[in-house]
Amino acid sequence: MPTYVVTCSFCGTANRIPAEKEGKIGRCGNCHNDLPPLYYRPQQLNERTFDTFIKGYGGPVLAEFWAPWCPHCRSFEPAVRKVAGMLAGAAAVVQVNTQENPLLAGRFGVRGIPALFLLRQGRIVDQLSGVQSSEAIAAWFRRHR
Ligand SMILES: [Zn+2]
Repeated sequence: MPTYVVTCSFCGTANRIPAEKEGKIGRCGNCHNDLPPLYYRPQQLNERTFDTFIKGYGGPVLAEFWAPWCPHCRSFEPAVRKVAGMLAGAAAVVQVNTQENPLLAGRFGVRGIPALFLLRQGRIVDQLSGVQSSEAIAAWFRRHR
């Protein structure tokens, strides 16, 4: 079974978390404080679930805005999925369908898709536009550490 490393924000211990625990709050094996939930796949959020998710996760979030009619979004999809695995334990990757959630897209000022936002505590830190490779996204994320 695949495992992912989730680093404890209290003591810095790297905890190995099995993939099947995705979405569950873990416990640090060293200091026993809560670990942020592991996400290794993009989470599909909407106007009802978005704010609750961001609040509950606590860590940095990469939010991709896309639409089913957008061919660029379709070609971007594999990179989004891959980067969710690459950054598992360090960030959560979420996706918002702008066609079904226009209010959320409006709140973020999304003009073109695909658009990727880096959020901390729900605030926009930076934005990437257009189709990117998973490596470029991961490098962009690390620059903002
Ligand atoms: Zn710890």
